[in-house]
Amino acid sequence: LGSESLDRPMRVCVATCNRADYSKLAPIMLGLKEDKDFQLQVIVMGCHLIDDYGSTYRMIEQDKIKIDAKLHTIVRGEDEAAMVESVGLALVKLPDIFLRLKPDILIVHGDRFDALSTATAAALMNIRIIHIEGGEISGTIDDCIRHSITKLAHYHVCCTERARGRLQAMCEDNERILLAGCTSYDMLLKSNTKNCQLIIDRWVEKGVKPKEYIIALQHPVTTDLHNSLKMFDLTLEALLEFGKKTVLLFPNIDAGSKDMTRILRRKKIENHPNFSTAKHIPFEEFIVLVANCACIIGNSSAGVREAGAFGTPVINLGSRQTGRETGENVMHCRDADTKEKILHALELQYQKQYPPSYIYGDGHAVSRIIKFMKELDVIDSIQKQFIFPPMPDGVSQDIDHILEIQSALA
Ligand code: UDP
Repeated sequence: LGSESLDRPMRVCVATCNRADYSKLAPIMLGLKEDKDFQLQVIVMGCHLIDDYGSTYRMIEQDKIKIDAKLHTIVRGEDEAAMVESVGLALVKLPDIFLRLKPDILIVHGDRFDALSTATAAALMNIRIIHIEGGEISGTIDDCIRHSITKLAHYHVCCTERARGRLQAMCEDNERILLAGCTSYDMLLKSNTKNCQLIIDRWVEKGVKPKEYIIALQHPVTTDLHNSLKMFDLTLEALLEFGKKTVLLFPNIDAGSKDMTRILRRKKIENHPNFSTAKHIPFEEFIVLVANCACIIGNSSAGVREAGAFGTPVINLGSRQTGRETGENVMHCRDADTKEKILHALELQYQKQYPPSYIYGDGHAVSRIIKFMKELDVIDSIQKQFIFPPMPDGVSQDIDHILEIQSALA
């Protein structure tokens, strides 16, 4: 066993960049923290540390998880160049932290540009990498980033059978893949979503009943910015006309974020009586809102992944989640090019109830991951092998092979 072959606990470094990865990494961190075979090390970076995006590092402090390093890695600007510079800044800062913490293994989640820097730095420094949530497909640049991290990672923890199949198709070794399910399901399947009134009062409006409000959560699509901004404008127009109570979350930090915020300010959404806005709602409360809303509209992964567990209706707009597995609760509006189309989707989905679907998890992902990690070898060669389809051998010679033949003939 890996941790037994070490004469000390395995140093496991977890790098978290924003609330999206923290909702998946927190259950793993809490599991590792409780287990004496592991020493948890935590790096907090990215937009966790930025007030405009909710200063979400506070969730980590509230969870009583010790933070070993806080790194400012975001170059502001919210455009494509700023994302690249942010990757560069993280790459400059991470080596010192890795040298200090000396992790045996790094856990990195998903498909964000920050995760690409963490995985790149670790791979170049010969630190083993476990990648969470590989093998999935989606739109925007995230898809390419996710698959790039797959190539850098030594181990994969995936959420669905199809994701595992894709990892194998990408020539990853099946022995290094764990199908665990999505770790956020460990938390959301345990949460009590019935006690919701106080949470609705806080985030939507006092006295609004369950199933009488919409959650809107839309992020930029970096590979199709122009259309993505137009779609956001049309979505707000449709929501204004639909006239129901709506809690609207601000977009993430990707290129285009500031343009989206400008659109919603121009329409005076923050002062409109039907709307409440938030930068971030703590995960436990967000989940209760998801479970009890009349529908979700936008392109957040929360719509395609988490809403299914409650049978909550979702209108998934545009290409950001293209290719994700979903339950029947999701209605796609891929080409959301008119207000009327979005409005029609709202009319069809509002207040519907679907059967729950558990495509992404059964609530036991963390215990599988901990068991898998206890069996990892963190001492032997780190050289990664890819499992390519059979191909003809090369023509070069091997001295050991020649000596073997000569001694067999002698
Ligand atoms: N989330 C949250 N509070 C919020 C909005 C989202 O806890 O106010 C969680 C959500 O449940 C999901 C994750 O953050 O697990 C990602 O959501 P987001 O839309 O920010 O990012 P995406 O995964 O679509 O990039």
